[in-house]
Amino acid sequence: MSELQIRLKNVTKRFGATEVLGRVSLGISEGEFLTLLGPSGCGKTTILRIIAGLESPTDGEISLGGNIINTVRPCDRDLAMVFQTYALYPHLTVRQNLLTPLLLRNLTFMQRFPLIGRLFPGTRSKIVGLRRQVNAVADTLKIRHLLDRKPGQLSGGQQQRVALGRAMVRKPRAFLMDEPLSNLDAELRVHMRAELVKLHRNIGTTFIYVTHDQAEALTMSDRIAIVMDGRILQVGSPEEVYEAPGSLKVAEFVGSPKMNTLPGSLGEDGRVVCLGMTLRRQLKETGHGNLTIGLRPEHLQVQSAFTPDCFVGKLVHRENLGSDLFLHVALNNNDSQILVRANPEEVFPFSIGDEVWVGRVPGKAMVFGPDGGRLAFGGEPSLMEEAV
Ligand code: ATP
Repeated sequence: MSELQIRLKNVTKRFGATEVLGRVSLGISEGEFLTLLGPSGCGKTTILRIIAGLESPTDGEISLGGNIINTVRPCDRDLAMVFQTYALYPHLTVRQNLLTPLLLRNLTFMQRFPLIGRLFPGTRSKIVGLRRQVNAVADTLKIRHLLDRKPGQLSGGQQQRVALGRAMVRKPRAFLMDEPLSNLDAELRVHMRAELVKLHRNIGTTFIYVTHDQAEALTMSDRIAIVMDGRILQVGSPEEVYEAPGSLKVAEFVGSPKMNTLPGSLGEDGRVVCLGMTLRRQLKETGHGNLTIGLRPEHLQVQSAFTPDCFVGKLVHRENLGSDLFLHVALNNNDSQILVRANPEEVFPFSIGDEVWVGRVPGKAMVFGPDGGRLAFGGEPSLMEEAV
């Protein structure tokens, strides 16, 4: 990755009176795999369409390779869009589907005429070169054996590869992908995730990828931009957005199952108190108002005996997913339920309705202020006893 290739500066988009993007700024490096992740309707596709030139911003600037491209036509931006519907020509073979955009781009109007076109000087050699290009892309995507089939004779995953191939043959400066895997079944989606990552590694072209599926975002991206309500809330590596979310909204959106949130407040000694328990680390700055304590299910554990700093509750439900066991615990001194991740292979002596004690993994609780912003603790915990 090197210098910024694509840049959005204070991009605003309004449809009539409705503002769908508000002063969005984002820089994407050459060769980066950046994912726009957010819930349905948050504006991800609009950002992608503005980059592609299919939509123009109401305000703000988009640049490509240092040049402002607000008024550059989509076809002159040299960016390839891959949609969730593959948009292949059903009556053409895979080879023709891949070749057609190349012929349109590289041959003159006269050269494109059937039969007569070939009589024009240079046409034949150009077509031979373009066919070679198609074969090379088909090899990369492992679809060479499908070149003579029509889209109707292909599986969903194969059609998706052909759609990618059609974008690839043009050798664009960046790929813009709008939920390209959402029409595939669960198993194929997981497989194609790995394939796309491999493809990105091999060709080294910038990928901008839109999804509402956090598993896709976390497993594929170099960086993730979290989009909500037409704004970018945080941009960071998958580890950063998961382990160091900047706000409660990001913390609750990233992670499956969702982070547990419990009410908290500041105790007399300036430490955070959560349902009668005091966190050991002290906040850097102490504000006023109600706090929210965030605890991920994997940072909680059911323990065999009561300790003064554990949650006490009743086991109300258990979900065994094979690799993980999720325990739903209704807390005794609060209306909330918390979710605890356990290891299904460990002996678990509790039944539904039993009282259980839930302890915390030290140093993992997050604290959010009344405005939803994450509050920092003073100093990093280096010793277990200093941790939360
Ligand atoms: P999804 O994941 O459901 O595709 P998204 O995050 O990609 O959602 P967008 O498609 O960017 O969201 O839409 C953002 C908002 O803008 C939505 O509320 C949508 O209804 C609105 N919107 C999009 N296009 C138009 C349009 N042409 N006219 C009016 N409103 C629009």
